[in-house]
Amino acid sequence: MHATREAADGRLALLKKEIEERRDDLVELTRDLLRIPTLNPPGENYRDICEFLGRRLGARGFEIKLLRAEGTPGDSERYPRWNVIARKEGRGPGPCIHFNSHIDVVETGAGWTFDPFGGEVSDGKIYGRGACDMKGGLAASIIAAEAYIAAFPDFPGAIEISGTADEETGGFGGVAWLAEQGYFSPERVQHVIIPEPLNKDRICLGHRGVWWGEITTHGHIAHGSMPFLGDCAVRHMGAVLGEMEKSLFPTLAARRTDMPIVPEGARQSTMNINSFHGGQAEPEEGFTGFPSACVPDSARMIIDRRYLVEEKGDEVRAEIVDLLEKVRSERDNFRYDLKELWHTPPTVTSKDAPVVSAVERGIRQVLACEPVHVLSPGTYDQKHIDRIGRLKDCIAYGPGILDLAHQPDEYVGIDDMVDSAVVMALAIDDLLHRAQ
Ligand SMILES: [Zn+2]
Repeated sequence: MHATREAADGRLALLKKEIEERRDDLVELTRDLLRIPTLNPPGENYRDICEFLGRRLGARGFEIKLLRAEGTPGDSERYPRWNVIARKEGRGPGPCIHFNSHIDVVETGAGWTFDPFGGEVSDGKIYGRGACDMKGGLAASIIAAEAYIAAFPDFPGAIEISGTADEETGGFGGVAWLAEQGYFSPERVQHVIIPEPLNKDRICLGHRGVWWGEITTHGHIAHGSMPFLGDCAVRHMGAVLGEMEKSLFPTLAARRTDMPIVPEGARQSTMNINSFHGGQAEPEEGFTGFPSACVPDSARMIIDRRYLVEEKGDEVRAEIVDLLEKVRSERDNFRYDLKELWHTPPTVTSKDAPVVSAVERGIRQVLACEPVHVLSPGTYDQKHIDRIGRLKDCIAYGPGILDLAHQPDEYVGIDDMVDSAVVMALAIDDLLHRAQ
């Protein structure tokens, strides 16, 4: 670390000045990113945004790689899964600090008063789909890196910035694929900051676990006028749902965690019923006929269970099996299948990790407040960096208000972007000069 307090203050002042001088550039960059509609699904304009980022960072001396995650879910000639990685080598040996942002945005939905892809600026805020989640964070990290390089051109190590596909649909054509290719291996990258919108004074250490399962109940088809000749799979599923209401939901609600998940309502185990279907398929829109009279012979429920660090993935599954077995012991002819759709254990970076203390220090210096440690209720790409990349020094830190993500009139505050860019630049400085 730097020898004296004055030296550290001098570096902070220089970085602040470099970033303040780039305020208009930061705004324009964010607006440009928002005007490229990268809706996912289906995954539109990934190539355009990657080329845009490649041109910008290539012109500033970064080495650019455009990488298509061929064959990953959703990848096609029409909707190719493109990713960009930009790397700037320093003048000597040292660690690599990487900023990873997803380039995709979710659908706009109804209720907008601004053009979701117009990049409109009003009252110190930039509006648009993806403004906070997370093109504002991407732009802030680019400005942080560019300002840092301008201030300290002789920096050691390396700085990387990536724009990656598909985070909103699991990250399989983005960070997961890049991690499989070795781009997030600890030999190549040592520290990662994901500028997701967690508010500029908070450090997100990780997220809860996820377990998705599909339950099918089986029955026997018969004429609907003589249901006693059949066996209704929907009634069997109704019994499953009844048991969930009676025993599982209250149990989950009572299971609390010490982890600082935000919002606070997520400091417990939760389960969402993602979908429930039984009997005849929904008719096509515009079909005017009537249904035929049949007893449903199958029903299907998809559950989305979010679990705490205090729980174990196999216990989460076992709890569902126990519930189904209980229903079976109480009902005649109850037959079911349970299929695991996907499972991601919780990911939590240690509070003592270098990237955590570097960002903590930045928050204290820039915002003059104590940083707050949080965990996310839902997952994000940190899971792939941790589990596939085996890279543990990773957090989410970025501007924007988490609650605005995926909402109409999503925005990011310009001052918040500037402040968090200074925090990011200070974190670069700290991590690049830290003894490894
Ligand atoms: Zn996001």
